[in-house]
Amino acid sequence: MTAETDLLRIDDQLDDEERLVRDTVRSFTADHVLPEIADWFEAGMLPRSVLTGLGKLGLFGMHLTGYGCAGTGPVAYGVACRELEAADSGLRSATSVQGSLAMFPIWKYGSEEQKEEWLPRMAAGEAIGCFGLTEPDYGSDPASMRTHAARDGSDWVLSGSKMWITNGSIADIAVVWAATESGIRGFLVPRGARGFTARDIHKKLSLRASVTSELVFDSVRLPSSAVLPGVTGLRGPLSCLTEARFGILWGVTGAARACLEAAVSYATTRTQFGKAIGGFQLTQSKLAWMAVSLYQSQLLALHLGRLKAAGTLTPVQVSTGKLANARTAIDIARTARTILAANGVTLEYPVIRHANNLEAVITYEGTEEIHALAIGQALTGMSAYR
Ligand SMILES: Cc1cc2nc3c(=O)[nH]c(=O)nc-3n(C[C@H](O)[C@H](O)[C@H](O)COP(=O)(O)OP(=O)(O)OC[C@H]3O[C@@H](n4cnc5c(N)ncnc54)[C@H](O)[C@@H]3O)c2cc1C
Repeated sequence: MTAETDLLRIDDQLDDEERLVRDTVRSFTADHVLPEIADWFEAGMLPRSVLTGLGKLGLFGMHLTGYGCAGTGPVAYGVACRELEAADSGLRSATSVQGSLAMFPIWKYGSEEQKEEWLPRMAAGEAIGCFGLTEPDYGSDPASMRTHAARDGSDWVLSGSKMWITNGSIADIAVVWAATESGIRGFLVPRGARGFTARDIHKKLSLRASVTSELVFDSVRLPSSAVLPGVTGLRGPLSCLTEARFGILWGVTGAARACLEAAVSYATTRTQFGKAIGGFQLTQSKLAWMAVSLYQSQLLALHLGRLKAAGTLTPVQVSTGKLANARTAIDIARTARTILAANGVTLEYPVIRHANNLEAVITYEGTEEIHALAIGQALTGMSAYR
């Protein structure tokens, strides 16, 4: 954030490591992403070289320890997500999926062999992972999933399909959640396994610089070593989502900040009725509320980051952050779009790209309604899911 827009100087709260991460990621996106991102968004692609670059920077699984992971604190991870998403939500999504949804379950629930085989390569960006939970018929209600795995001798046979899977077709390893006789289990399914196919979903108007795929498992035979031994039940995938949502509640503050900066810059240079539109009270009121809401979301992210560092962060606190900050970010992006008016609908400026990206961000990793239900349940003691 520039000195002019960071009126509360919230970044002064960051320690040296967190500032170093901020500056490193910011300079990477300035050099390697921002000059091209509008074209990638328009073309609907994110070059693999960018993912390799993020791995080289040490951003994949950076909040994990050992196996080639950087082992930073959670606020440093949050700051990295923020700076990535200030460039594009697709970049942060790729990093969230790799570190929190694919590496985290292996790190937390995997066997020693699984960790050694996958984590160092994934941390370096040499192997890409994806996370398959959502199905065509089951999104918010993953407990009802149809994808299932059954024992056949010492092997497992996996059948079913997963939908809307980030990085699906480019992944070297898919972490797939399937119903078994003993409950939901996680399976590591390598690219090329017989009966496993991935098809990209096209015509998305959100997160275009991000690969989204459908995964199909047609009686895929897996060895017994493919199952994650350390967890059974929905708490496995839900714990991964809590990790990833933490990155989102930080990340979206980056997208919002980029939109505020674009709006301030436009408002001070665009003239109508003989003066800069930033000199009109109505524009200043918009900018002031955008800034205030951004500061609130940044302070919330920082607070939750410090709770995570203290080891006390709970899933409902993460739901609160994801619900609040994703909504704030999309509101800021849409208001910024009105200040840029016609120019706001083109990819020449970042705001429509961020606004469109945030449509997916308010939906994935728990829709607004699902997070509201989690908070409502915590407040009232009553579950309103059914
Ligand atoms: C770009 C993109 C990338 C994604 N990446 C991944 C990924 O990598 N891996 C993965 O597993 N999934 C991924 N998803 C899927 C995402 O997590 C789901 O879309 C999300 O969980 C919502 O599921 P759904 O779309 O099926 O909506 P549904 O669950 O069908 O919900 C439809 C509407 O009904 C509402 N609703 C549902 N239940 C209730 C209720 N009890 N009370 C009130 N309202 C309710 C919802 O809030 C929503 O408004 C991705 C999605 C997108 C768009």
